[in-house]
Order: sequence, then C-alpha cells, then structure tokens
Amino acid sequence: MECVTSVSYSLLLNGGLTAKFQARKGLRQRDPMSPYLFVLVMEYLNRSLKTLDQIPDFNYHPRCAKLKIIHICFADDLIMCCRADRVSIQLMLKAFHHFSEVSGLQANMEKSSFYVAGVTEEFKNLILSEMHFTLGEFPFKYLGVPLSTKKLTIAQCMPLVEKITARIKCWTTKFLSYSGRLQVIKSVLFEMQTYWAQVFLIPKKIIHMVTIACRTFLWTGSTEISKRSLVAWEKLCMPGSAGGLGILDFYSWNKAALCKILWAISTKKDILWVKWIHNFYIKNRNISTMATPKQACWIVRKVFDTREWFEAISATGDINEFWKQGKFSIKTMYTASRPQYHKVTWKNLMLGDTTIPRHRFILWLALNHRLATVDRLAKWKIDVPNECVLCTSQKEETLDHLFFECVYTKSIWTALLGWLKEKHSVGSWELELKWLTKRTKSSRPRAQVITFLFAATVYYTWMERNNRRFQNQFVTYADRVREIALQLHIKGQNRSKWKAVLEQLNRYPSGNSV
Ligand SMILES: [Zn+2]
Repeated sequence: MECVTSVSYSLLLNGGLTAKFQARKGLRQRDPMSPYLFVLVMEYLNRSLKTLDQIPDFNYHPRCAKLKIIHICFADDLIMCCRADRVSIQLMLKAFHHFSEVSGLQANMEKSSFYVAGVTEEFKNLILSEMHFTLGEFPFKYLGVPLSTKKLTIAQCMPLVEKITARIKCWTTKFLSYSGRLQVIKSVLFEMQTYWAQVFLIPKKIIHMVTIACRTFLWTGSTEISKRSLVAWEKLCMPGSAGGLGILDFYSWNKAALCKILWAISTKKDILWVKWIHNFYIKNRNISTMATPKQACWIVRKVFDTREWFEAISATGDINEFWKQGKFSIKTMYTASRPQYHKVTWKNLMLGDTTIPRHRFILWLALNHRLATVDRLAKWKIDVPNECVLCTSQKEETLDHLFFECVYTKSIWTALLGWLKEKHSVGSWELELKWLTKRTKSSRPRAQVITFLFAATVYYTWMERNNRRFQNQFVTYADRVREIALQLHIKGQNRSKWKAVLEQLNRYPSGNSV
C-alpha cells in the first residue's frame, strides 16, 4: 500500500525538475506498477471463486467440473461459467460482488453479457430479469477475435477481413507501383500472422477473401474485384528460387498453424485447454488412431482432421525438425509442406536487394514472359497499335523484339556493357539470360553491378515504352543510359562492396548507337 498511496510526481519544466507534489488519486494509468497490482488483485478473485468448491449447492458448468474451472481471464477480459441453475449463478455472482466490494473493481454491465444454453425459455427470461443481464449472442469477441462454436458465416467474418485489409484500402496506396503494392501486401500478410499467433485457426473464408483482396490490389491498385492478373497467385507464393515472389501461402500456413495445436495436444502440454480436450474428447485414447470426435465444436474437429495432412508431411522428413527446444515451429512445418519446386536458371537475378524493388518487379514480369506487350494484349482482345514505339522498324512489339532486337534497347544495354568493359555482344533475350546466368553465378560485386544494370535496362525500357504510348513523352536512349548510370552511382553510395568496381568506371558511359 505504501507504493500505491505515497505516489508523487515532479514535472520536467524548462530543462529542470519542479518540486514534487502528491498524487491525490494514487497511481496514474499505465504506471508500470499497475499490471503487477492487477495480477495481485485478480489472484484474490481466483481464490474467492475457488471457495465455491466447498459449497455443496454450487454446481460447476458440466464441461468444467472435472477441471474445476469457474473462470478464465486475460487482462481485463473475464469469462465466468457455472451450471445454469439459479443457486449456482447466485453463488457465483455473490463471490464476484464480494470481490468488487473489496477491490473496488466493478464489472461494466454494459459490456457484460450472459450466455446460456439447454434451458427453458422461462428460466432464461427469469435469470435475465432477476440478475439484470443482457443476453449475449455468438460469436463474441475475445482478444479481438470472434469466437463461436459454429463455423463463422461470411457476414461474421467481414469485420475481420476489413480489419486485415484496411491498409490496402487507404487512398495513399492508390498511386504505388507494383513493388510498392507488393510491400503493402507482404505487411498485410504479416499482420495476419499475428491473428494466427492468437487463435491458430483462421476460417478458410477469411483466407479466401483476403487473398482475393490482395490479388486485386496488386494487379489493379484498386479494391474493386477483378479477375485480371498478370501472374497466377500460386506462382507468387512460390519461393524466389523457383521464380515466385515468396508471398506467404495462407492455406498452407493455416494448416501448419493447426499442426502446432495438434502437437500441443499430442505432447500433453501443461496448458488448460490441452487438459480440457484430453478430459472430454481423448480420454486416454491414442490421438493418432482415434476417430475425430463428432460432438466436438468445429475448431476441435478441424484440429483432428489435420492429422492426415500432418502425417503426410512428417512421413517425408524428420519430425524432430518441427520441434526444437520445446517450441513448435510453424515456419519449419510450412516450409516442409511446400512442394519441391524446380529452380529457375535466372534465380540469381532476383536475389536480395541487389536491384531496386520497382526494377526487380518489372524484370520479374519479363522473366516470366508476363509483361503486357502488344502481342499479349491482343490475346486479351485489347486493341492497340502493334508496332514498336521505341524504334522505326515497324515490327510488332513482343518481348523478343523489345529485348533485344529493338535498336533502342540494344543500344542501352550495349552502352552499359561497354561502360563496364564487358566483352560481350548483345543477342536475343534467351541468349542474354544464358550469358547473365553464367556471369552472375557468384555474388561478387561485379556480378551484382551487372545484375543491377540489367534490371534497370529492362525497367527503363518498359517505362519509356509506356511513356511513349500513353503520355507521348520521349527520352533518347543516350539520356536513358545516363539516367541508369546515375542510378548505379546513387545505389553504390550505400554499398561499400561496390566501391572498387565503380571506381574503375568513367563517370558516364560513352558510345554510339548500335
Ligand atoms: Zn523497336
């Protein structure tokens, strides 16, 4: 009590502390002392409720009798339960009121609800009027997550979907490039993981809706649902080495998270809910061979249904891999569950932060043959003039023409290679990739600089093409070369490893058009 009642403050004013003054109302909110006091006080509630066990007239909730559970609480959320008879409810409330009186902690009745099942309508109404309760409805929110014994409906899922996707609906994200949107999506998914950390099971409906929202946002920048996408979502979820973007595959992650629950149950972890499940559903049976308990709620059934998936994955690898130092790793499980993809030859071009993200994304589209060139637009029945706008050859704009048949692009790439004093003459897209794959096998600074310049060449060519087509703006190839060279110098300022390579270069490339 000394700590609580003798609080004094002094203010930092004009660089000096004022004289101390007493706090009339004790601790202020958020004082680091508060959580500790709260735990002490709640321990008293715990003990008060436990005394109910001694009263013969008190009945536990039928599902909680064996473990003698009357309440569970997390921070200031409190759930109390008992059998739905008048005496038990009154006894439980009496214990709580006693606690309120001695601690001064009152329950906010407006935020409290009463849930009852398996009783007559008369009894329900009697309790509601007698005890001044409001009747609650499932699902209710606990720790911000809707809880229900039944599968959530789409309408019930919506607030959670809205919350998760709120960021991509913000107006400022409208003007982001592909790579900017990709970053937003990755952080949205990261936040979704915090939900997994709390509940482990996100209904498939939510996953599906979030996936569609992210996909639409990536390709169109808007929130209006569109089926148009340049690359399939499954492909985006593949690792970078397999030609994907390494976006989290929520379906697999969800399954891996379920395995964590399954693991906790099968290793009989010393946690209340694990004990509860053992008490009511498993009852000393073998968890790997017993049937899924039909009377259990859907979450428990889902956990049991995951056994098959878990066994299929663990059959191929070492189970102990998932379980290190007493902790189950969802990530390891997730990785093990992903297919063994073929590695793409150009994987080094997409590595790490060698290139600028917006360059990398356009390069990635090109590598996957997904740049929306005229020949591809024609397949979507989008009609635009089909000649290349970068040169006067009047050839159809295809990936192969742009890279590097077109004199504009070929000139840029040739000038940059000449600048680096690379003895290599520019060929077709495929030949260039072959050459690059060989040349960038190591992660040496020179290989990184070549990768950087290649990504920039692809990016600026594509920008120039778009500017000419849609804005009627032209930049000569020589100016583009200077722009790319400048970008390299800027990037090089933060990369000391590139210093030696950059010092050997002239300030700007020189040379004539090919
Ligand atoms: Zn051309």
